[in-house]
Amino acid sequence: MVQEQSGMCALCSEPGSADGLVVDADDLRKRIRGLLHRKCRAFLALGCDNPLRFQMAITYLERKRSATFSHDNQAHS
Ligand SMILES: [Zn+2]
Repeated sequence: MVQEQSGMCALCSEPGSADGLVVDADDLRKRIRGLLHRKCRAFLALGCDNPLRFQMAITYLERKRSATFSHDNQAHS
């Protein structure tokens, strides 16, 4: 599998040494999804392996970036 992914993490596509990548498995379907960095695997676990959570996180981050309201705006209004 390390060869399949060319030694890259399946999540962030950054290189990882063979012992630096861990097997990520779908517990429900008993299926191996790929090899990930430990931190990338932990990242998925934090989101409960739920794609919706990550979509919501993206929406949240994008909204914060656009900064529709800030302390400055409140001070001037
Ligand atoms: Zn990674």
